[in-house]
Amino acid sequence: MTAIDYQQIIEQLHHSLSAVEATGETADYIPELAQVDANQMGVYVLDQQGRCYQTGDWQQTFSIQSVVKVLTLCMAYSELGTALWQRVGMEPSGTPFNSLGHLEHEQGVPRNPFSNAGALVVCDVLMGLYDDPLAALLGLIRQTSGNPEIDVNPVVAESEKSEGHRNMALAHLMKSLGNINHDVDDLLDFYFNACSITLNCQDLAKTFAFLAHRGRCPQSDQHILDNSQSKRINAIMLTCGFYDEAGDFAFKVGLPGKSGVSGAIVALLPGHFVVTTWSPGLNAKGNSQRGLQFLEAFTTETGQSIF
Ligand code: GLN
Repeated sequence: MTAIDYQQIIEQLHHSLSAVEATGETADYIPELAQVDANQMGVYVLDQQGRCYQTGDWQQTFSIQSVVKVLTLCMAYSELGTALWQRVGMEPSGTPFNSLGHLEHEQGVPRNPFSNAGALVVCDVLMGLYDDPLAALLGLIRQTSGNPEIDVNPVVAESEKSEGHRNMALAHLMKSLGNINHDVDDLLDFYFNACSITLNCQDLAKTFAFLAHRGRCPQSDQHILDNSQSKRINAIMLTCGFYDEAGDFAFKVGLPGKSGVSGAIVALLPGHFVVTTWSPGLNAKGNSQRGLQFLEAFTTETGQSIF
């Protein structure tokens, strides 16, 4: 199979998107994120042979935010296996990322691991599995990215904590319903720190390469997940990765992916590539506006998608 030269495609798409003033809004409920210039945009593509293509602000660092929920899920799933699904479901919620909606009627069991509620439960699981779950998570990211410098930005974590009322409400509600085992403040600390891990588009693409390689990290040659688990994580990304915009993303982009409120998106085509974008202007669903536009055009121009 001849390799696609992505460089020209990504440069041209980046150029045309950057020519228009960003209309998306930065996440204003996290004060530190609100200050970032919404006009920035970085792109990084890592193909299956290890070739990389990059453009724009790909070296600029940002906090990982909800993209981390995929990694915490992988850690919990690889340890617990199917027992994990007693604590959190795998159905799309059709609700915003920070919704409290279904929880009360569904005994505190979140619909899926990519809502904030679901991610909090997964963090609670990890607190039961590791003495220092944040160190374990950082270890996974440093190992898969090959970048030992990656760390938490404590200013972002503090900023999230200062305004984290919905996350506090979610954690307390689930604790009252018996689906959180640990101290709520410790849980929120771990969650806010996990969301505040800071990296760039290259780090993120390398970190996620194992999900395009049947669970094996090409960087370290370690099996993070087995092939079946890797397929299942990709399935949950496809159905739940963009909250109440997951259908739209599948329709327009056609790849498993995950977004975060810092404006980061990771998407991948198993056996072919991982693509990361970062552009902080968000649409009303909390997903990067330019990132979505870029990825729609990228899969259209390259003719590549899981469909
Ligand atoms: N840290 C953010 C929060 O808890 C993550 C949300 C997101 O990226 N969608 O609100």
